[in-house]
Amino acid sequence: MDKRPVLYIVIPCYNEEEVLPLTAPLFREQIARMADAGKIDPESRILFVNDGSRDGTWEIITELSRQDPHFQGLCLSRNRGHQNALLCGLLEAREHCDITISIDCDGQDDIRAMDSMVDEYLSGAEIVYGVRSSRATDTFFKRFTAQSFYRLLNRMGADTVYNHADYRLVSARVLKEFANFREVNIFLRGMFPLVGFKSTSVYYERSERMAGKSHYPLKKMLALAFDGITSLSVKPIRIITGLGVAISVISFGLILYALIAWIAGSAVAGWASTLIAVALLGGIQLISLGVIGEYVGKIFLETKRRPRYIVSERTPGAPGAEDDPAAKA
Ligand code: UDP
Ligand code: MG
Repeated sequence: MDKRPVLYIVIPCYNEEEVLPLTAPLFREQIARMADAGKIDPESRILFVNDGSRDGTWEIITELSRQDPHFQGLCLSRNRGHQNALLCGLLEAREHCDITISIDCDGQDDIRAMDSMVDEYLSGAEIVYGVRSSRATDTFFKRFTAQSFYRLLNRMGADTVYNHADYRLVSARVLKEFANFREVNIFLRGMFPLVGFKSTSVYYERSERMAGKSHYPLKKMLALAFDGITSLSVKPIRIITGLGVAISVISFGLILYALIAWIAGSAVAGWASTLIAVALLGGIQLISLGVIGEYVGKIFLETKRRPRYIVSERTPGAPGAEDDPAAKA
């Protein structure tokens, strides 16, 4: 085989000082193992993106990069959320590598699945989705909410790969095209299928976090689902339109009924039906306004074209560090 691909493993980290010292060596071993097997270039890198952590995460990253140049780090100027941190890592890495694999830093996603991801890339896939084959270690509640999350997304027209989070291999070629997706509201797992190219999935078992705690409680998960839907699909607006049509038809029937009753002289003072109609319509109208408002808000955010992330520090050797005097120190 000719040249081996340079891999960048992109890992967003937010307040992960407990788990990073445990998982960082595992990522390093994985690179060494795949390089030994001749699958990737030994100059492959692990790129941490510190998402404005308030604990010692960035200190751990800089220390790791001092000890071993395979570790690199980018530090965001503040906490921007998992999706933006990941976007930062992918876009910054893309000109320095042939493939990226994004993964969480908590060891929940099986690092060994990278072998099969790279194999799929070597046999022609440009995007390889890591899919959880079972959720045996999740609590019933987490499993139920997470699976409802994927179903809701797909039903609402945001096409995503079922049970795939953000553990995926993406080639630099795909990232080059992806860089033209300039939206500010990003939902990466729904956007990569839109880029196209040959894609496939590999399956792995998801395990428990090695340390620390989840940053995705139910509230954040619901917010992510809602964001994903409204960023990718206008189906909710269509549903509202459909609802409007249905209610109008029913109302028309009611009006006819009332008229006939009035003509027949049997109209009674029906406060119950009036009350129900007013309450029902009031509720539906408020929800509808909220949903439409969400889209208007998204347009507002998009038109501002604010930067999606701001890098405040880079470890020496990290992508972009050559142009950044502060990183030379
Ligand atoms: N994360 C981040 N910024 C945030 C929240 C989370 O970069 O604001 C990172 C976090 O460090 C981890 C990944 O995103 O690497 C996934 O978070 P977590 O494990 O808490 O979510 P879960 O696996 O429970 O869904
Ligand atoms: Mg996790």
